[in-house]
Amino acid sequence: DCTITGYDPELAEAIANELQRQEDHVELIASENYASPRVLQAQGSVLTNKYAEGYPGKRYYGGCEHVDVAERLAIERAKQLFGADYANVQPHSGSQANQAVYLALLQPGDTILGMSLAHGGHLTHGAKVNFSGKLFNAVQYGVDENGLVDYDEVQRLAEEHRPKMLVGGFSAYSQVMDWERMAAIAKSVGAIFFVDMAHVAGLVAAGVYPNPVPHADVCTSTTHKTLRGPRGGIIVCKANEAYEKKFQSLVFPGIQGGPLMHVIAAKAVAFKEALEPEFKTYQAQVVKNAQAMAKTLIGRGYRIVSGGTENHLFLVDLIDKDLTGKDAEAALGAAHITVNKNAVPNDPRSPFVTSGLRLGTPAVTTRGYGEKECVDLAHWIADVLDAPTDTGAIARVREAVTAQCRAFPVYG
Ligand code: PLP
Repeated sequence: DCTITGYDPELAEAIANELQRQEDHVELIASENYASPRVLQAQGSVLTNKYAEGYPGKRYYGGCEHVDVAERLAIERAKQLFGADYANVQPHSGSQANQAVYLALLQPGDTILGMSLAHGGHLTHGAKVNFSGKLFNAVQYGVDENGLVDYDEVQRLAEEHRPKMLVGGFSAYSQVMDWERMAAIAKSVGAIFFVDMAHVAGLVAAGVYPNPVPHADVCTSTTHKTLRGPRGGIIVCKANEAYEKKFQSLVFPGIQGGPLMHVIAAKAVAFKEALEPEFKTYQAQVVKNAQAMAKTLIGRGYRIVSGGTENHLFLVDLIDKDLTGKDAEAALGAAHITVNKNAVPNDPRSPFVTSGLRLGTPAVTTRGYGEKECVDLAHWIADVLDAPTDTGAIARVREAVTAQCRAFPVYG
């Protein structure tokens, strides 16, 4: 039997159950989205069979003429999406794109200045447990008591530590990061300015969030979050021959072997989708939906870090509530609302427990939710958070969530 169902029913069931979960549960994890059937088709294609070490036109293997077409399409579209002169579409993930950038431009022991994980940065921005914090001397900035990046503090830290690189970008920050200001800080101390735009790349591509590419020496992104492509990474930058050469050789053969040509084909089709006018409408709705949810939760007595959102996500601060992020995540999960617990600034609880939740709207907006659905959803979230051990209330919310999900199928 050539089908998974016939050959490996145990695995087939897990895949079918995951599809059902994605259809029946509401997805509010800010870093997730639903890739289109076209993206899934490219990723499940025979391009997975092909070794293509090297770059289009300069491969170490024969038979690359067709995968070269796919990679060139992905490169050209990535450049167009972000107004970049250079793109490398081979990084297997966001973390590997960041690794390539660091290793291309820094020496072990160099100082980097990035946002701390506890205040909204990513592991790869200098966290102690990550290679970025082990290999480099990582100094970390954060947000002020209002939950906003404190640029004066970034400037002060830059002057004190003279980093070789300033890292912009985040995984849990709901405001606009001032790329121009960050670039000026980097310039004032002679640092390279690197932006990891993974979270907001889709918004940037659609023009609803400022583009860091003109201000940064180099930018990376994942392709599977707001950008709605396959899981993977990219590097983009303005024309800079010396840097481009370094990135090319750091990705391959520096840290990776053969590129995942099926994933690169899926990136190409996702980028084509992101260039369509509908993608702008979609991303504008993502932001409106996040704002509608945040406003509703504030009305229900919940504190939102920084007071609201200008992008696709926000953090609910539970420090003042008798409820941990971990328990809130579990209670919402029981109501079929999928979120992740998240540390909030000055969180007294451990990273495994936390005092916050991160909510994001890219996935629900893909399935067609507008502000009305998001306001309803925010009320149901508040109903659960108000009474996290009330199994009757949770059951009522689960029923409402299920009906709402059925009205907006993901894959039909
Ligand atoms: N950079 C940022 C800002 C992220 O939020 C993430 C993922 O959460 C990554 C990089 C890492 O991406 P990946 O999981 O593909 O390694």
